Amino acid sequence: GNVILEVEDLHTYFFNRGSTVKAVDGVSFFLREGETLGIVGESGCGKTMTALSLLRLVPQPAGKIVSGEIRLNGEDILQKSDDEMRQIRGRQISMILQDPQTSLNPVFTIGNQLMEALGMARREGRKNMITRAVDALRNVNVAAPERRLEDFPHQMSGGMKQRVVGAIALSCEPGVIIADEPTTALDVTIQLQYLRLLKDIQAETGLAIIFITHDFGVVARMCDRVAVMYAGRVVENGPVREIFNEPSHPYTRALIDSVPKLEERTARLYSIEGEVPSPINPPSGCRFHPRCPFAMDQCSVDIPVDKEVAPGHRVSCHLY
Ligand code: SF4
Repeated sequence: GNVILEVEDLHTYFFNRGSTVKAVDGVSFFLREGETLGIVGESGCGKTMTALSLLRLVPQPAGKIVSGEIRLNGEDILQKSDDEMRQIRGRQISMILQDPQTSLNPVFTIGNQLMEALGMARREGRKNMITRAVDALRNVNVAAPERRLEDFPHQMSGGMKQRVVGAIALSCEPGVIIADEPTTALDVTIQLQYLRLLKDIQAETGLAIIFITHDFGVVARMCDRVAVMYAGRVVENGPVREIFNEPSHPYTRALIDSVPKLEERTARLYSIEGEVPSPINPPSGCRFHPRCPFAMDQCSVDIPVDKEVAPGHRVSCHLY
């Protein structure tokens, strides 16, 4: 497919009482139509801030996209006005928080929230609105959607709420959808079901998907390509199969080794040695060097540059 989204050397910083957190510090990647890209890394690596930058929804007033380019359908969205951006969100790019508790409003019916997303309250007749809201629910496999419109979120199961969140994000048929991982523990089976539903919609519509997750297991099942983030940077980027079977960057190896087996998923999460680096004072040179079993003298001094180790597969590490 054609490239629908291209991010180049993106820097998103937070300015707080004299300190600067470089949450996203030189991130580049691209996304093709109909493709699924995973952005994977530990919490605090900048993956969610990257996603929020793509929507221009970086938390205010501390957060700021300081430089870079984000080209969506060929246009740099960093040059758009706030009004133009409101038109782009939902219609060209949309985000699903995989945590339905925080993304549905408890005081409005599902029907109301869908119509709000469809943004046609005034322009179209009520009958037309209802038809489109029902279609949006049917697209995400909600049974008897006509009867669901009057329901409030608390009347629905967790899985159902999640599909409604999906219906809202997809209602204006965006070309790109970003699915951020749940902040609370969510049943893995429900999460995978939901991701499969998104993949089915993708097969029909050519939707491009970005999955944001800490779980390489989910990436291996669901994505075509992956960008591995560490301390605000992409350290490895390429086809999922290749990277999963033969990771190049030492951090990617650690991340894949730490993927828990299905049966022990709830028991343990991460077991990479050493501490997640401070975003205010990140390590010099290669930011992974304090935790890297292969670190050399050079690693604490020189920032590794990104090299292509195979077609479409890039790595930032002095070993290459
Ligand atoms: Fe390890 Fe050095 Fe490669 Fe960084 S650059 S990942 S410290 S070997």
